[in-house]
Amino acid sequence: MSFMRKTKILCTLGPATESPEVISALIAKGADIIRLNMSHASHEWVRAVNARVREAAAASRREIAVLMDLTGPSIRTGDVEQPWQLEVGDTVELRCSPEATASTRYSVSVNYPDLGKDIKEGDTIMVDGGMIQIKTTEASPQHVIGTVMTRGEMKSRRHINLPGVPVRLPPLTQKDYADLDLGVELGVDYFALSFAREPGHVQHLQLLLEQKRSKARVIAKIENQQAINNLDALVEVSGGIMIARGDLGSECPIEDLPLIQRQIVERCSYHGRKVIVATQMLESMIENPVPTRAEVTDIFNAVIEQVDCVMLSGETSVGRYPDKCVEVLDAVIRRIEQKYPSGRFASDAPLKTNKHKTVKAAITLANSIQGAKLLVFTLRGVMAHLLAHQRPEHAPIFAFTPNLHVSRTLVTARGVHPFVLKFTEGQPEASIRDALDHLRRENLINAGDPLVILSDALYDGVNVDAILLRQA
Ligand code: PGA
Ligand code: MN
Repeated sequence: MSFMRKTKILCTLGPATESPEVISALIAKGADIIRLNMSHASHEWVRAVNARVREAAAASRREIAVLMDLTGPSIRTGDVEQPWQLEVGDTVELRCSPEATASTRYSVSVNYPDLGKDIKEGDTIMVDGGMIQIKTTEASPQHVIGTVMTRGEMKSRRHINLPGVPVRLPPLTQKDYADLDLGVELGVDYFALSFAREPGHVQHLQLLLEQKRSKARVIAKIENQQAINNLDALVEVSGGIMIARGDLGSECPIEDLPLIQRQIVERCSYHGRKVIVATQMLESMIENPVPTRAEVTDIFNAVIEQVDCVMLSGETSVGRYPDKCVEVLDAVIRRIEQKYPSGRFASDAPLKTNKHKTVKAAITLANSIQGAKLLVFTLRGVMAHLLAHQRPEHAPIFAFTPNLHVSRTLVTARGVHPFVLKFTEGQPEASIRDALDHLRRENLINAGDPLVILSDALYDGVNVDAILLRQA
């Protein structure tokens, strides 16, 4: 049996990865979660690739989760006919209403009608993650005029950040509501909420999902200072957090970014929530077949912080070497995890309930036995999520649940390998035997392996949390 990677890999699909062959290759190389980024996707495209992902996942015999990333109220420019080659000193116009006519050569609409009201002369406008910086020279309700401070190419639908400018944006846009309906229809496993700034934004989405009878979980994307100010409340209400380093790097002083990453990881660890590190993990591999040395060290850092998932964006959506990126991530993560056990970050998390304490006991047992593996039988996934959050040092977590949806929500959990298994009612021994048969068939356990088995689901009718120790 080969070493089982704990940190999960999330890949964004795009033009470079839309074909069935490439999707299968990503999954074969180790992609665990597929992100559909609604900022760059039509409904038709999403329907088509989602079906391909499901097919490829079924063929791979691994559980693959799908995350739909809602654009949220982020500010973006409209379409430009040809990319602009901007030089320092050029004048750029951002039009606040689609009807307004262009008054300069470089003129583009923005999707935020209040931009001209929120911004004032002297404010910096960061385009495309700060690749282009524009200093505001004039602001009116109709448009914003600015001077280019850094040269660069500007394409269609670029991100805009306004560091330090308080903006009045709703939690979701009309486009998001339509995208949400599509995601619910397709049965995606996660929705990521871009620019979540307050717990109410997450709760709003969760309520909508409940009304639409979706079981999908909400991942709050932390993208600006306002979200960091509300960090604990956001972490507590969300199913997980994405450290959206792209926007954070524009909205906050860049030297704060590693500290912010560490702070978010610690709060997620404290509250027992999933945490995803996103953006620029292998940015140079959009163009090159090998990563930079700094990128490898950034992956090292995320693995040492024991995050649940690392994410690829442009690397897999538009890059030249999408499956190579997954290969590199997989290899680097494995190397680090074999050297450094998990555990440290979770050790401060409070053990709030008896369930938490039972899980801790199972982990202490597994940690103390060389080569131990954890098995968990779970109906709603609670025990399995708790096991992952408390970060066993070495033991992989094999999670069995009769519920497909629960199984897919466990894909994002660090160290968890979920399987759908029908439990034999009233006969715990039969369910355990079926699970072990499955693991043996997949070559995931060897005869004699010490197994720590945790269950609150097998002894139906009686409410028992059981820890069993046995050999495969
Ligand atoms: P995005 O989110 O790729 O949707 O912008 C991630 C980030 O901001 O880092
Ligand atoms: Mn973002």
